[in-house]
Amino acid sequence: MNRKPPLVAVVTGAGRGIGAATARRLATDGAAVAVLDRSASDTHATVHAIGAAGGRAVGIACDVAAADQVEAAFARVVDAFGRVDVLVNNAGVIRDNLLFMMTEQDWDTVLRVHLRGAFLCTRAAQRHMVPEGGGRIVNLSSIAARGNLGQANYSTAKAAVQGLTSTFAAELGPHGITVNAIAPGFISTPMTDETARRMGLEPDAFRHDTAARVPLRRVGSPDDIAGVVAFLAGPDASYITGQTIHVDGGHP
Ligand code: NAD
Repeated sequence: MNRKPPLVAVVTGAGRGIGAATARRLATDGAAVAVLDRSASDTHATVHAIGAAGGRAVGIACDVAAADQVEAAFARVVDAFGRVDVLVNNAGVIRDNLLFMMTEQDWDTVLRVHLRGAFLCTRAAQRHMVPEGGGRIVNLSSIAARGNLGQANYSTAKAAVQGLTSTFAAELGPHGITVNAIAPGFISTPMTDETARRMGLEPDAFRHDTAARVPLRRVGSPDDIAGVVAFLAGPDASYITGQTIHVDGGHP
């Protein structure tokens, strides 16, 4: 950001995984952080960790796909911290199934959280960023945007997030707001543990097998993504917008 710290950051789905690591990293870098997740109890561990490390955080229950909850959450952030400088659209779910078994609910749930959620949160955030003359928005896409067996819903949502990123970058650039996406490869989180179990594998074995196919010979950690979010939210990224950055260890 060009504006002086302390910045105010909103991270969705920040109760665990990549979102939690990102919230902790932005707080370590000096931001006041709003930790959004489905329920207040989901936010407690992250808010506590940030507070214990000397940072500032508030936990807010918010289903990112529910417009009224999103509006109320951003009003609370502004009440607590005065403004919004950074938004990280990270909240996500998976409902994997091959096409012949995929239900309408599997489809709608995934599109609703990833895509409608990013749309609603970005719309709410820009209302506060535009009058301030700037802001940073980082969206979580995925290498699955290129297509992935059993993930038609997720791949579609993550590809659409890239379209939304370049479109919002064009619309919000004149207001000093950058909009970028990160497309992670395999990152070790509760989400990938869930995938392993659905495939009948132990999470450790799944990580081990995946690492063998990654050129850097390891799977990613949430901190690998948090560092790139921090870069995109920081002063060195002020002329980068509309981009999708792959953070995947060189995953083919
Ligand atoms: P995770 O399942 O560990 O965490 C996701 C968080 O989002 C949870 O805390 C969950 O409660 C929250 N969430 C879900 N639905 C929500 C809703 N409607 N409103 C608010 N919060 C909600 O997942 P993760 O692995 O940390 O993934 C974070 C993001 O990164 C997701 O968008 C995911 O698609 C993306 N991603 C992950 C990987 C990976 O390998 N882990 C790879 C590529 C992209």
